[in-house]
Amino acid sequence: ANDETLLEVNNIEVIYNHVILVLKGVSLSVPKGGIVALLGGNGAGKTTTLKAVSNLLHSERGEVTKGSVHYRGDRVQDLDPAALVKRGVIQVMEGRHCFEHLTVEENLLTGAYTRTDGKAAIQRDLEMVYHYFPRIKERRKSQAGYTSGGEQQMVAMGRALMSRPETILLDEPSMGLAPQLVEQIFEIVKSVNENEGVTFLLAEQNTNVALRYAHYGYILESGRVVMDGPAAELRENPDVKEFYLGMS
Ligand code: ATP
Repeated sequence: ANDETLLEVNNIEVIYNHVILVLKGVSLSVPKGGIVALLGGNGAGKTTTLKAVSNLLHSERGEVTKGSVHYRGDRVQDLDPAALVKRGVIQVMEGRHCFEHLTVEENLLTGAYTRTDGKAAIQRDLEMVYHYFPRIKERRKSQAGYTSGGEQQMVAMGRALMSRPETILLDEPSMGLAPQLVEQIFEIVKSVNENEGVTFLLAEQNTNVALRYAHYGYILESGRVVMDGPAAELRENPDVKEFYLGMS
């Protein structure tokens, strides 16, 4: 019900180490309020695409050598990741990356470090996070390193929410989690999207679950978008069924 575009990736090429061409002209767009899934197998380029958007490629000797990334119409590919967070875009990296020696609650609070709207507002958002993730409320005094994989995924997502983002780039939320927990994580993505208006671009190998929760999907193969469309259409597409929904 809203066709304002937030993120526009136009024909980007990404090269690692000056020689390895990994993205060969990827274009996609993410509307405000959308849940957009970036699908494809191992090594297709999903993580690289998210990192190109959030400017996290430099530390891996990767570089956008062609094309452009715009957010709300502004070219953002030369900003540092912190500047992008200030504009409302935050990435939750694959593998969670909690501060293991801090408690769950301290981890969440690190997500609020760029905010200047005061303690009361931050406290309110902590309650908001605990509302979506009751499980980590129970674990709030535990050292994050001792929580389970699913709980750490929730902490990483909760920490991202503490920055009050407009858009979350979510890398492989299902990774390493039991099916029931995967479902739970996607249910939370859905309710955060609906109730808080947060926009999601998520990379996911689990096509089945992603296409049930996303509104729109892009399928990547070897650094190229080979197919895209509304999730409901992709779910019914014979090629998607055969190659990505496989056994189901
Ligand atoms: P995964 O689900 O495994 O993360 P992906 O679709 O996210 O897969 P990418 O991680 O983006 O894929 O990787 C795309 C390709 O880029 C792979 O062939 C990978 O080996 C290569 N690649 C990734 N990071 C680097 C790097 N730092 N240096 C060189 N090549 C890299």
